[in-house]
Amino acid sequence: MENHTTRPHHVAVVGSGPSGFYAAAALLDADLDVRVDMFDRLATPWGLVRAGVAPDHPKIKSVSAQYDKTARREGFRFFGHVHLGEDITRDELLERYDAVVYAVGSQTERRLGIPGEDLPGSIASVDFVGWYNGHPDHVDLAPPLDTERAVVIGAGNVALDVARMVLLPEADLRATDTADHALDALVASSVREALICGRRGPREAAFTTTELRELADIDDLAVVADPEQVPAGIADDDTLPKATRRNLEILRGFAEHAPDPDAGHRMEFRFYRSPIELRGDGRVEEIVLGVNRLETGEDGRTRAVDTGERETVATGLVLRAVGYRGMALPGVPFDDETGTVPHEEGRITGRDREYVVGWIKRGPTGIIGTNKKDANETVRHLVADLGGRAPAERDEDHHAAVESWLRERCTDLVDQTGWEAIDAHERGRGEPAGRPRVKVVDRAEFTKLSRP
Ligand code: NAP
Repeated sequence: MENHTTRPHHVAVVGSGPSGFYAAAALLDADLDVRVDMFDRLATPWGLVRAGVAPDHPKIKSVSAQYDKTARREGFRFFGHVHLGEDITRDELLERYDAVVYAVGSQTERRLGIPGEDLPGSIASVDFVGWYNGHPDHVDLAPPLDTERAVVIGAGNVALDVARMVLLPEADLRATDTADHALDALVASSVREALICGRRGPREAAFTTTELRELADIDDLAVVADPEQVPAGIADDDTLPKATRRNLEILRGFAEHAPDPDAGHRMEFRFYRSPIELRGDGRVEEIVLGVNRLETGEDGRTRAVDTGERETVATGLVLRAVGYRGMALPGVPFDDETGTVPHEEGRITGRDREYVVGWIKRGPTGIIGTNKKDANETVRHLVADLGGRAPAERDEDHHAAVESWLRERCTDLVDQTGWEAIDAHERGRGEPAGRPRVKVVDRAEFTKLSRP
């Protein structure tokens, strides 16, 4: 058998977010005859670019044009409405593909583990973000927006996203692709203030500079920081990384300028605060915050230590933005501690033909572009492994047979052509109002739109 080098290798990529698309692109770029089938449990591709990135960040979302380009390359197929573990199994994939890449991200929340965490009105950012972005799993969330103050837990970019989304002026919101159910609710919302609580200090906050800087440009918004927490000269410490110093300069700007008393909305940063308890009669009515001091551990990392002092803040909405967490895939090894799949540079530990990329590989950190390098590392090993092995014996019509199998198994299957029809429909609906798109959120409607 000398012809095996010309017979294509078949690779399945499970998950169609940034890491999945960067892996697909790297595979198609490789010096290898390869076909890539990408699966998603949703009808729509792009993962967090569609369902995570805040709607008022269209520039970040425009990275999807790159994914579109990949999707149009020869050798690539997209199959939506395919849920691994429900519609198809891992074993079935391994029978049909020479390698499987899991690019499923971190689909759930990190827990706070405090009393009252599950009271109505206490919402994980993964649910809230999914709700305003029209993720079909979260359309029925109905967050209580009949409260003046929202408290946001966490000092990362997701905390900023959710705080902005509850405070954006109506005109800004209406220009976005925020799902219509959320748009209506946010426009009618009573929330006037978002209090962002970081458990450590301003130096330790995980915000990125662009995200902090843009706050100053939001209409009708007063941004407030405490001059005692962000004192003059805080940014002058040249032992700090440049990015931290830039962030501190911006936060110092918020601390030293008196907030516009006429602004209709207010965003306040309060550092050295940990959530201790949520209280309320049938729903959140207040949050108890613990005041922290900082201590540097032997590992050099700064830790928040409870001083025992307490503050009680009235609120009907607590948004928990303390990070995402990966979920185990059926039959795939999982490290419960880190919420990731154990691997060596993307090769799943103890597995021959299975790989990971993105957040399920390295945890929920980094920006979209971080996934490119990460996927390249995995694909480099994958390609080396495939190159060192003769592809499995396959029938001539293997490619078509896989599609028939999927169509039989998944009656709502959405292929690339189907997704393009959905995409055109959504963009078309958005055009008259100058919005990027009006999102479809209903499974049956996705299926219907995807059919010729
Ligand atoms: P993150 O950056 O890891 O921030 C999580 C925050 O939650 C940190 O401030 C962390 O504090 C805090 N936290 C964790 N456990 C806590 C607890 N038990 N009590 C109180 N606070 C707690 O996570 P993220 O905001 O979910 O963002 C995830 C990734 O996506 C990040 O890499 C982020 O930059 C990226 N992202 C980027 C953008 C953008 O570029 N526009 C937008 C959204 C997200 P400690 O530091 O003390 O642990």
